[in-house]
Amino acid sequence: MNELQTMWSISRRKSLINCPREYVLRYSGNQKQYTRKNIKSNKKSLEDILVTSLREVMVERLEDQKNGIIWSKKMILLKLKMSLEFEIGPRGLAKIKNSIPKFFDDLILSGKKQLESLWNTNIFRRISNSKIKRWSCLDRKKVACDGHIDIYCSPDLIFQVQNKWHLLRIDFLGEKSNYFEDLEALGMVNWSIKNRNLPDLINKFKVHVLKFRDGIWLYQKFIPNNNLLQQSKQLFEKDVSQMNELVKKMGPMKNLSLIPLSNNYQHCKKCIFKKSCPAKNGLEKAKSEQFLTEYNFTKERFSSN
Ligand code: SF4
Repeated sequence: MNELQTMWSISRRKSLINCPREYVLRYSGNQKQYTRKNIKSNKKSLEDILVTSLREVMVERLEDQKNGIIWSKKMILLKLKMSLEFEIGPRGLAKIKNSIPKFFDDLILSGKKQLESLWNTNIFRRISNSKIKRWSCLDRKKVACDGHIDIYCSPDLIFQVQNKWHLLRIDFLGEKSNYFEDLEALGMVNWSIKNRNLPDLINKFKVHVLKFRDGIWLYQKFIPNNNLLQQSKQLFEKDVSQMNELVKKMGPMKNLSLIPLSNNYQHCKKCIFKKSCPAKNGLEKAKSEQFLTEYNFTKERFSSN
């Protein structure tokens, strides 16, 4: 039986937009609370693994910094290496090292560079020199329930300056800007006002996003208001309803043939489902074939009525 889609998160939204087929394969069958076990069993691309490791190391470095322990460059490298080795696992690691020997070392170095430049951003500098004194890292897997939707949209870091709460998302894999990024970011406020430990007054919050794109950290700031928050909730509703439409289209036999493919071959290049996808031999060809299948399917249905 297909599961009712109830979970909303930025990663799910990105997947839904970038490729509906990828969304269905990756997320539709997993509508339970996040647990270490189901996260581990979820297939991850190398890019996703790098993001997981960067986030883990960032939190550990920040927590140590809070306790007065400052990491050397060597320590950053070591922590990243250990985290990546753990996430990739011995078999995957052997495979990578055998096929492209320098790849793993380059991956660690690029991760280190990304973390170092994060520490050079304004917010991180203010944390490092104690201009921001009250802050804490949050667990992205913490849910806030809003009606029938489970929102996984916690900030990565929250800090307090005077009487304002600042919610920061750190996007290690920043995508191109889109029309809805303010509403996506304000999801953090919708999450926060459902959290018993945070105020439920909208004007107490400011929202920040640091997004890594083309080798640099881009900064965005959003100020919430009632109207935007309402629109942000509508965005969740629309996405979740679209997710359910896809699952319905797939049917009880989990037929993927009519689930739309990506519109951009760039997404296919790093997709973990490519080997079993009709797009493996060319996205445009696969889309034309899908169009014909859909046409024949509709025609058959029409003539049988
Ligand atoms: S290979 Fe491309 S079309 Fe196929 S699931 Fe992946 S992203 Fe979608």
